[in-house]
Amino acid sequence: MPTTADVRTGSPNPPSVRSDAAFERAAKVLVGGVNSPVRAFGSVGGTPRVVASARGATITDIDGRTYLDLVGSWGPAIVGHAHPAIVEAVRSAGERGLTFGAPCEAETELAELILGALPGAERVRFVNSGTEAGMSAVRLARAATSRTKLIKFAGNYHGHTDALLVAAGSGAETLGVPDSAGVTPTAAADTLTARYNDLDDVDRLLRAHGADIAAILVEPVAGNMGFVQPAAGFLEGLRERCDRAGCLLVFDEVMTGFRVAWGGAQTRFNIRPDLTCLGKVMGGGMPVAAYAGPARIMELVAPVGPVYQAGTLSGNPIGMAAGLATLTLCKAPGFYDKLEMLATRLVSGLVTAARACDIPVAGAALGGMLGFAFSAELPTNLDEARSADHERFRAFFHAMLDAGVWLPPSPYEALFLSSAHTAADIEAIIACAQRSFRQIG
Ligand code: PLP
Repeated sequence: MPTTADVRTGSPNPPSVRSDAAFERAAKVLVGGVNSPVRAFGSVGGTPRVVASARGATITDIDGRTYLDLVGSWGPAIVGHAHPAIVEAVRSAGERGLTFGAPCEAETELAELILGALPGAERVRFVNSGTEAGMSAVRLARAATSRTKLIKFAGNYHGHTDALLVAAGSGAETLGVPDSAGVTPTAAADTLTARYNDLDDVDRLLRAHGADIAAILVEPVAGNMGFVQPAAGFLEGLRERCDRAGCLLVFDEVMTGFRVAWGGAQTRFNIRPDLTCLGKVMGGGMPVAAYAGPARIMELVAPVGPVYQAGTLSGNPIGMAAGLATLTLCKAPGFYDKLEMLATRLVSGLVTAARACDIPVAGAALGGMLGFAFSAELPTNLDEARSADHERFRAFFHAMLDAGVWLPPSPYEALFLSSAHTAADIEAIIACAQRSFRQIG
């Protein structure tokens, strides 16, 4: 049984007794004991910790062990867990009704805030998950262009809709099955895959299929094959090629939206996509996502246009209240600068600590998103991400977990900081990493 310590106080944690039993019980009724595959620790081994609560920068399991959290529920918790302003907004909205199935003012307020942050976007449609946002953006792009084919990038994940579950990164990589059983060849046939950061590969596909391409979908900063940044000129190159080929550029900013900058990667890199998919941060921890773009495209969606898309709980007042409270906090001057300062310090501390032990580690940060890989250079595409030292990641993950740091349980995931993390938290994590690197050698 692993001995663990509270990373902030250094005092020993109780052993994993209740958590192991609770997970064993869960595995008898939930598929693999979880409701989303990566949570099952498939790529790191061992038993997931069952969570009791999360507050600020920490997460606590049901044995009472507290960890400094670098996952943030996979991105949404950008102001820390259970932020009082969000909890109060949700509580007060709940008192007025959980869902109306009819328009409410909070939808308009959140839409105004989001459209104010995305240059060129004039209409938004709220949905309930990033998967739905990606699926709907694809349908809309096909309708807008009267074309069928899509280009996506190997290692980019756009949710688990059939057409996009091709070379789809993290979850699928973690399971070792890049494509899913149950996706028919027909559903995947119109999805073409290019290598991330490789415009020549995009040109190859455009030469062969240009007149049939409805959209190029991209994670403008990739977070589902580890953390992979766009090379200089890559996003600009995609914009130019879409203009030339007459297809739409769809930025999947489910992860990067309001995470790497106010607005997202499109404001950070100053590129205007035709459509944007959002999720995670903009829903403040509730199941809220969206797709947005100029009126001339978005008004093809029902009820104005012929593209059908609907949702019983879409735009529900609880999700809208959580999103509004979260984005209001993110809009504070200097919010992303402070996050990036902490994230950059964390990355440099991790890299220095690893190299002091002769372990090659590379990393980078952008706003509140960061990543590291056990390789001499940070990967720039899926092939490079695959060739990092995943055995070492596994050992490091468990050493850090036992030391009280909650990392994503897969080398194919990015890390997320929140404004609740303090400079002292970052130094405590770096100190844990120094010990962990020495331990794993
Ligand atoms: N797009 C990206 C870039 C994502 O990272 C994710 C989820 O991690 C999705 C889409 C799917 O979002 P959801 O899990 O809300 O369906």
